[in-house]
Amino acid sequence: MLPKRPRVIAVANQKGGVGKTTTAINTATALAALGDDVLLIDLDPQGNASTGLGVDAGDRGVSTYDVLTRTNSLSEAIRPTEVPHLSIAPATMDLLSIDIELSASSDRALRLRQAIAGLKKKRPRYVVIDCPPSLTMLTVNALAASHAILCPLQCEFFAMEGLSQLMRTIAEVRTSVNQELKMHGIVMTMYDARNNLANQVVADVRATMGDLVYDTMIPRNVRLSEAPSYGKPALLYDLKCAGSQAYLRLVSELIDREQKLGAA
Ligand code: ATP
Ligand code: MG
Repeated sequence: MLPKRPRVIAVANQKGGVGKTTTAINTATALAALGDDVLLIDLDPQGNASTGLGVDAGDRGVSTYDVLTRTNSLSEAIRPTEVPHLSIAPATMDLLSIDIELSASSDRALRLRQAIAGLKKKRPRYVVIDCPPSLTMLTVNALAASHAILCPLQCEFFAMEGLSQLMRTIAEVRTSVNQELKMHGIVMTMYDARNNLANQVVADVRATMGDLVYDTMIPRNVRLSEAPSYGKPALLYDLKCAGSQAYLRLVSELIDREQKLGAA
């Protein structure tokens, strides 16, 4: 019997530098640490998730660009990482031109969804997608393929700016191609408890977004930002650091929500 269809979670926020890639890498690693097979799909032309998991720019082989253009299947792009149970489909800068290349295809929003559905033999339990900081066809492909969105918000003054646009995009994707899509939750990132403004921002976001906001907040933690330069997830680089511990707590909350979303 084939394993169940994977649960697909997109890490998305069109604002740049809010902690999407850090969250995608460490959430995927924490899920893999529980013993389930996890696939991280890098959908950002910057390829930061690929670099952060030790796949150097010169060594990407088949990439998500080849998958979206149907030159290769997704399973051909997948490669193992240093983390047991965690594999990655890497990204290259080629993705920059994907909007133009797919503009004439009527199924352009569904390329990734179809590629994931085509995974037959080695089906992971979870797929985590690292989205680029934009609401272009790459993010639409991620949302069309996903069950739920994990949205990192940076604890800074303009945190919620753009959230309504993301919510509108989610609504459009739900009506057009993916009725199942839900907001999994919002995670506050780069939190510094000593900063009054950060505390005010957190209070505002919780007042506006209510239960959608995870209890766990990811602290500003230098180990989290150092880890990618060693090509490792923070959880492997320094398991004990406050950032790694926060991602472990986030994933335990995420799994609780998965059960509530009826995914178990
Ligand atoms: P982009 O929109 O460019 O893809 P992003 O949303 O993926 O960015 P990241 O790359 O995860 O954001 O983070 C932006 C920068 O902040 C990186 O240098 C990262 O190492 C650092 N960073 C992320 N989270 C934290 C944290 N909790 N504490 C300290 N530094 C962090
Ligand atoms: Mg990123």
